[in-house]
Amino acid sequence: MKSEVKKVFRSLKTYELALRPKNKPAQWTLPVPIGRGLSIGGRQIIVMAGPCSIESRAQLLKTARAVQRARAHVLRGGAFKPCTFPYRFRGLKQEGLKIIAEVGRSLGLPIITEVMDVRDVPEVCQYTDILQVGARNMQNYNLLVEVGKTDKPVFLKRGMWANIDELLGAAEYILKEGNPHVMLCERGIVTFENHTRWTLSIPMVAELKHRTHLPVVVDPSHGTGRRHLVEPMALAAIAAGADGLMIEVHPDPDRSVSDWMQALRPQDFSRLMERVSAVAQSVGRTIDGSGERKTLSTIEPRTLVASRALKSGIVLERRHLAIRKNGRGKGTAHQTGVTPRLLNNLIGRRLLYDLRAHDPITLGVVEL
Ligand code: PEP
Ligand code: MN
Repeated sequence: MKSEVKKVFRSLKTYELALRPKNKPAQWTLPVPIGRGLSIGGRQIIVMAGPCSIESRAQLLKTARAVQRARAHVLRGGAFKPCTFPYRFRGLKQEGLKIIAEVGRSLGLPIITEVMDVRDVPEVCQYTDILQVGARNMQNYNLLVEVGKTDKPVFLKRGMWANIDELLGAAEYILKEGNPHVMLCERGIVTFENHTRWTLSIPMVAELKHRTHLPVVVDPSHGTGRRHLVEPMALAAIAAGADGLMIEVHPDPDRSVSDWMQALRPQDFSRLMERVSAVAQSVGRTIDGSGERKTLSTIEPRTLVASRALKSGIVLERRHLAIRKNGRGKGTAHQTGVTPRLLNNLIGRRLLYDLRAHDPITLGVVEL
């Protein structure tokens, strides 16, 4: 039988939404809102801290109080744990989600927790402020697509075997689905070195800041796997330009059900925060919110959608925009909480990226 090739499709595109727009200065970062009026990627350094695993309400509450006292901004804790060996503690799952949501709410701290499985995305979204995609799932493309459809900020950890292009390719999967709120996390990679658990790459921080507009976070806990190396690497990360840190803290590290060798005691964490604050100041940043300039990009994400495909560079007009209710379906400005003032702020601004019809426009993808 004779067959005929009608069309050959070949794309050389890799990632573009993840790249810093050409008209922006070096190191330019688009801040990502992370809940409770906080955003990451501005002058303020954001510190996410808490235990590796949520073990009980008492353990999490004690840790949360300690990290909040030390001025951490976000509470971390794993409810779904990726484990190398199936006999280890794999997390409290739904019960853990309930605990961290309740503790976060009671202390007024936004929370971050890992989602490991596509099937769990809707449920984890009900509880968390930030979705974490772990290193082992960085190339789980179905999961990336699914978190890309949500309206939650996504914390994407670099796979321990992944290079910079693979990391940015993974981020692109999320961005392409219409979720512009992605943070990248350097957490160490596999090398032949064996005095640390993984090898943390500090140059990666500066390189990512050079290439992308996405906020960059460093996790020196997994990055070293050694308690005594967490603080020095946290300081190095901030000096290199990181926008945030993720640190594992446990009230009694030797009893931690997972990652005890890298967990800091609360007093170690307080000291780390003091020293991080000093380094932050020396590079023109701060761990406190005071003096932070609020930009439109920190206000309510994903409430507007493009009503037709729009090319980057165009100046937005009223007719280009429709309004989405809670990120889905159409509603009125009144229902979405988009005030006429916010809408007016968007109109007349230049678009930074191409948008397809119905892509969400965050208030941050326009020039402010
Ligand atoms: C974690 O942060 O809880 C974790 C499991 O990290 P990673 O995915 O980097 O191993
Ligand atoms: Mn851990």
